[in-house]
Amino acid sequence: MDNVIEINHFSKSYGEVHAVQDLSLHLQPGEIFGFLGLNGAGKTTTIRALLGMIRPTAGSIRVLGYPVGPAGKGPWARVGYLVESPSAYPDLSVQENLEIARRLQGVESPSAVDEVIDLLGIRPYARRKAGTLSTGNRQRLGLARAILHRPDLLILDEPVSGLDPAGVVEVRSLLEDLSLNHGVTIFMSSHILTEVDRLATRIGIIHRGRLIEDLDRQQLARFRTRQLEVEVHDPVAAWQILHNAGYRVEKGQGQLLVLDDQRAIEAPEEVATLLVQANKPPRRLATQQQNLEDHFIELTGGSR
Ligand code: ATP
Repeated sequence: MDNVIEINHFSKSYGEVHAVQDLSLHLQPGEIFGFLGLNGAGKTTTIRALLGMIRPTAGSIRVLGYPVGPAGKGPWARVGYLVESPSAYPDLSVQENLEIARRLQGVESPSAVDEVIDLLGIRPYARRKAGTLSTGNRQRLGLARAILHRPDLLILDEPVSGLDPAGVVEVRSLLEDLSLNHGVTIFMSSHILTEVDRLATRIGIIHRGRLIEDLDRQQLARFRTRQLEVEVHDPVAAWQILHNAGYRVEKGQGQLLVLDDQRAIEAPEEVATLLVQANKPPRRLATQQQNLEDHFIELTGGSR
């Protein structure tokens, strides 16, 4: 199937400021793309260009097969979006806001409003004036509006910002459900790795306007797998003992051995016992996870 999003050599400058430079990205149906970058990296600029809100200085963009630009009619009926703090009519209730959105978006079923209210868990606030909502609930209202017309593609700028930890989990599972069970493709930005890490099937890291890393499912899986590190006096002998016992074991740096099979990670004591019985006791045993956060910080030169 065709790419849902196609960005080719996109650049955007504001005078001397090069907000985004030569960014190319192709997104397939069903992907959940986490667009990760520090403040000012160029995320919002890219998202605005995707939605046709700004004109690229160079490059071209296609969304759901349509060229994005002033001339094209665009695929907007099939796109849901949330950009920066979502606006709402402050004196109207949550329900009324969504009802207006429903009519504007030409959604015929009147029950669509009730359905998204329940999906986003904002039933207790349905009659509340939108202007009195907390940041988190305003964000939920924005998301409800974004999915009201059941779009094929969701473009979300910092969708979980302002939500408390429970809210982050809630929205994450909603997005996961939309993706897995309804085939929705999701492009979401964040400046916090943990917000996209659990959900994304692919993560792109943007830094100073450039896409400097594009991690696919397999590369992410490597960051998410755990390993058992065993430090020994005699790595050659210890390797042989563990290998003979059927463990998948590789030599690490110095006197380190690294085991990545489930058996070793779940029962490190068995590894220890084996080495002790062979008179090669381990000096140290530790389960480690390659850390995506460290990788991100390293790439972007940030600090914790
Ligand atoms: P944040 O997480 O803070 O929202 P971001 O990754 O979304 O950051 P952008 O908003 O895309 O970053 O901004 C990228 C760069 O472009 C920044 O240096 C910003 O100051 C600059 N910029 C964005 N919009 C404009 C504009 N309209 N005029 C001038 N400079 C702009």
